[in-house]
Formats: sequence, C-alpha cells, structure tokens
Amino acid sequence: MASMDRAIFLDQDDIPTRWYNIQADLPERLPPPLDPETLQPVNPEKLLRVFAKELVMQEVSQERYIKIPDEVLEAYRWLPRPTPLYRARKLEEYLKTPARIYYKWEGTNPAGSHKPNTALAQAYYNAKQGIEDLTTETGAGQWGSALAMAAAYFGIRARVYMVSASYNQKPGRRVMMETWGAKCFSSPSEQTSYGKKLLQEDPSNPGSLGIAISEAVEDAVTHENTRYTLGSVLNHVLMHQTVIGQEVEKQLEIVDETPDLLVGNIGGGSNFGGFCLPFMGKKLKGKLNAKFVACESSAVPHTTKGKYTYDYGDTGHLTPLLKMLTLGSEYRNPPIHAGGLRYHGMAPIISYLIQRGYMESHAYSQTAIFDAATTFARTEGIIPAPESAHEIRYVIDEAIRCKKENEEEVIVFNNSGHGLLDLSAYELYNSGKLKDYQPTEFNYPSIVKEEEMQ
Ligand SMILES: *Cc1c(COP(=O)(O)O)cnc(C)c1O
Repeated sequence: MASMDRAIFLDQDDIPTRWYNIQADLPERLPPPLDPETLQPVNPEKLLRVFAKELVMQEVSQERYIKIPDEVLEAYRWLPRPTPLYRARKLEEYLKTPARIYYKWEGTNPAGSHKPNTALAQAYYNAKQGIEDLTTETGAGQWGSALAMAAAYFGIRARVYMVSASYNQKPGRRVMMETWGAKCFSSPSEQTSYGKKLLQEDPSNPGSLGIAISEAVEDAVTHENTRYTLGSVLNHVLMHQTVIGQEVEKQLEIVDETPDLLVGNIGGGSNFGGFCLPFMGKKLKGKLNAKFVACESSAVPHTTKGKYTYDYGDTGHLTPLLKMLTLGSEYRNPPIHAGGLRYHGMAPIISYLIQRGYMESHAYSQTAIFDAATTFARTEGIIPAPESAHEIRYVIDEAIRCKKENEEEVIVFNNSGHGLLDLSAYELYNSGKLKDYQPTEFNYPSIVKEEEMQ
C-alpha cells in the first residue's frame, strides 16, 4: 500500500468466514437471562416461539467461533463487504496531532449503517427454518430499514413497529422500508392489544423503543409462522457484527499498526461490540494492551449513570430480564437526534466489560457531538450519523491531548453509519437552534428487588 493511500481495502475473498463469540473467553460466565414470569433462568425452549431456533442456540453458545453459512457470506459480498478502513489524514492535519487516526466505515451499504450485518444473518436463519413473517421494532428507522432490505433479499415478509414520534417526524426511513416491501406501523398501534391499551389511555402517545419491542413481540407470538428479530443488545447480534472487528484486524496488519485505543458509540452495544470484541478477546488473553472507550449520549446515560442489575428489555415487560447497565425500562428517553442511542439498557456483554473495568465509557451532549461531526465532515468529507458523532467527539479530544503531550498514539474507531437522513438535525445545528437535553428522572420502578431474584 502506498503511504498516502486513504483507504485500506480487502478483497471480497478476505471476508471473515466465522463469527467470534467472546463468551468463550470471558473470565466468568454471563449471568443468565431470567424468565419474566418465574424470575428463574429462562428455559431456552421458551424462546423458540419468539426467535428462530438457530439464533436461540447462538445466544447461549459458549463456542469461540461459529461458521458463517455460505448463503450469509454471499449476502455479505452482495452488501458489499469487506468495508474499507480509512486513515483520517485530513482530520489529523487539521488537528496537528501526532496521533494516527483510523476509522472503519460501515456506511457504504444501501441501508447506510452496520445493521445489515446481523439483519442478513437473522433473515437467513428464519427463512431457512420456513418462517414467513418477521416482526421488529425500530426507533429512528435504521434497524427497520436494514431488516426490510434483508427480508427482501431472502424473500420473507417484515412488519416493523416504528416509534410514533419518528414515524411522523422522519418519513425518510419509513419510505425506505416500504420501498423494500416491509409493512411499517406507527407504535403504539392498533395492531396489538398492548398498543390498543396505550392508545386508549393516550391517543397521542409518542411511543418509545421499549413500547415498540412489546408490540413486535406480541405480534410474533400471536401469529403462526412468525418470529421476532432484535437489532442490538443480544449476544448473537453482537457476534454477527464481529465481521467488522475481524476485518479491521486484517486491515491494521496490512499497514503494520497495533491499536492503542479503540473507540465506538453504544446504543444497545452492537456496532461497538462487533468492532472491538475480537480485540477484547486478545486483551483478555494478555496479547493486546489497548484501551477501549464506549461513547453514549448524556441524555441517555445508560452506562455512566445506570445501574448494573436485572431489568426488562421492553416497557410492557414481556421479554426476559437481562443483567445489564440500565436506566430502568420506564426511562423516558429525551428526543435527542441520535435515535439509535435512545434505549434504556445495554448489551449484557458490554455492560459486563464496563462493570469489570475492561472498558471505559463517556457521555456527551448533543451540541458537543454535532461540533465534532461538523469538523469531521469538513475534513474527511463524510457526514456521519449523529450516533457515530459521539465517538468522533472523544477521538478529536484525545487527538488534541496527544498533540499537547506530544504522544504518538494509534486511535481506531468505528464509524457506524452516515447521517444523510439526519440532515434536519444538522440544519438545526448549523442555524444555532440545536438544544441540549438533561437526563430525565429515573427511579428504576421496573427493577425487581435483588432479593426476590434468588
Ligand atoms: C443503530 C445505530 C447505532 C446504535 O446501535 P448499536 O447497537 O449500539 O450499534 C449506532 N450507529 C448507527 C449508525 C445506528 O444505526
């Protein structure tokens, strides 16, 4: 590779052929999910009515590697993968930093984010099992659109419950889903008994991700040959995303670099998990001495202010309880523009790693992250998703510190998607009208008392 090349590409033949499951290398076994009725470890059999069988097996698997089926590899090539790793030279020059900054760019595919990496795998396993309809929820629409595209690819139908506030304010993603053939409902909806109940209480309920999950699960379990899919948080979702980090390992080898710092944003933890867990596996074995930093919104401070305990994944309390960092399932997420970061909980794997000190996390306000996003756009050209702007904030601050302390550091971050459907947020920022939100009150009403859980 010439020294001034901007992007480091891999051949399509270099796509990783297996997913990495960090559960095999964690110092302890993760606490098991609990059944919402008995508060005892959930019997995987019960989950078979909710998720495709292969995905339930992967969720609890302790195998270090799981082979990627040929059909999914073919779908990854179609996206296409591998995605490029960029050297952020213009940003480095602008900041006059001795740090060397690299970013993985996941915004190249038609859905515009990392989410198709798991959407394609989930649609495949469901289609293979003979499932005809998929249900899911979506906040701002990134996951819903990725699933709609994946469902179209594997010839299966998708019904998406989209948080009402976004359904009305962000028609772009809804139109994408509908164009790919999915049905999209404003949540709460008239489609489910839970949705109907909420609409009776308040016809203008703006919805939330937690409510939309309850609706999508209810829809799946009340219809034949239908299963639910989730775009983040769960172990199998993070595992599918490890194609990202395994590609980055190969790309850094080409330029003979070892990362000192790995950075990403966390909504439910899937893009950062997929990016950093292959490296975390090495760190846990003493083979890599890097720092890991997860970035979140200060309006939804799930890991910086949350509690590490068992909580429900949804507002209607239909899902198993997961041991995670959480703000409580009734947490009212302020309407920040980084829709993908508005979730009360966090992946059990990421929660565990933060809780045990293997990973740090930092929270940023909305105006601070749009400052960073704008600097990035003006140097690197790419207009990042507001979610991705969170780690860009951290990276810029760190590069400035490296300059002050004259430290050469190799910084690598995961640029999870583009912001081309978030231009109204950029418009508010550009005109000085963007405002910050404080975290809303949280008193964890949903969290079951620890002593009841033995
Ligand atoms: C959904 C989304 C996120 C946050 O979700 P994770 O599961 O934490 O990755 C971040 N960035 C983009 C572009 C997204 O679409």
